[in-house]
Amino acid sequence: MVKIEQIETVLVDIPTIRPHVLAMATMRSQAVCLVRLYCSDGIVGIGEATTIGGLAYGPESPEGIKLAIDTYFAPILKSCTATRPAAAMALLSQHIVGNHFAKCAVETALLDAQGKRTGLPVSELIGGRVRDRLPVLWTLASGNTALDIEEAERMIAERRHNVFKLKIGKRPLKDDVAHVAAIKRALGDRASVRVDVNMAWDEPTAKQGVAMLADAGCDLVEQPITKQNRAGMARLSACSAIPIMADEALTGPASAYDYATQAAANVFAVKIEQSGGLFAARQVQAIADAAGIALYGGTMLEAGIGTIASAHVFATFPALSFGTELFGPLLLTEEILATPLDYSDFSLAVPDGPGLGIALDEDRVQFHRRDASRSTISLPAA
Ligand SMILES: [Mg+2]
Repeated sequence: MVKIEQIETVLVDIPTIRPHVLAMATMRSQAVCLVRLYCSDGIVGIGEATTIGGLAYGPESPEGIKLAIDTYFAPILKSCTATRPAAAMALLSQHIVGNHFAKCAVETALLDAQGKRTGLPVSELIGGRVRDRLPVLWTLASGNTALDIEEAERMIAERRHNVFKLKIGKRPLKDDVAHVAAIKRALGDRASVRVDVNMAWDEPTAKQGVAMLADAGCDLVEQPITKQNRAGMARLSACSAIPIMADEALTGPASAYDYATQAAANVFAVKIEQSGGLFAARQVQAIADAAGIALYGGTMLEAGIGTIASAHVFATFPALSFGTELFGPLLLTEEILATPLDYSDFSLAVPDGPGLGIALDEDRVQFHRRDASRSTISLPAA
């Protein structure tokens, strides 16, 4: 029996290339909880958990994830057979409620190890990939219209991205819509422009806002209102001229089922961490497919490891109409990977080596590893 001998968690802080402005936080660095599983056959599996803006987005933080894995996950994992990732995850779920992000990081490491052991990419282990490249959009989140247009033009010229998501909801509605409209006018048919409101609007504002955005040429509105207002999301989805996407609302298969049965979204943003792991994300996809809901591959702004774990999952989706937002590593000053990821031709290549198909750059991990004097709390800009 192959044992899991040691579980190591390390916090790594990587600066962002520019402030990333969201409705709930402004990020200047990303804190990554890196997980390594050392197995008795000499194989080491890696996984990652990140959050957006510390505790600004969801109930887990990188520091809390590290504590949960060290204190509660590790003793259970040491009793598991490394070659049976699904059984290990089932045992963890018996003893640990919630903690979706931590579970995702551990499941990623288990599957990476199993892939390395069997010679199979994670995408093949979890069901089989149907594509080798994933379209990747870019989020324009400087908050400044002229800067955002300049950034978008550069991305189109470099053939890196031609789909752009704008983070709105912080400013008055008409200012936000003017910002979106100006960007869409500048880019025209060369790009698709979408928005993410991150739950910042109430329903009347959303009803008006979605109509104004449709007129401005916006193609998609992500989570315009609070995830608790499922009936409101259904009303918006039923009457909107452009698709409404659920994101924050999708915290695993049960929530996806609720949203699907109530027709509370036209599109699902699937995230591996929010779903509770790679297999859970595939269950969310299956529910969407059964309900006729379109799919989009979401991000928790993971660094290279979590991004590639997500890529392996999205590569198995039979349909992925709205592409992905797996640009996390591009937002960071460093990838912390030994070999750079292949972002080209408006897409990301899904690695085809065993496991995740990537390796850490240990020097860079060491360099960015958090010491006691550093903090990653990213407060909203004044
Ligand atoms: Mg979102």
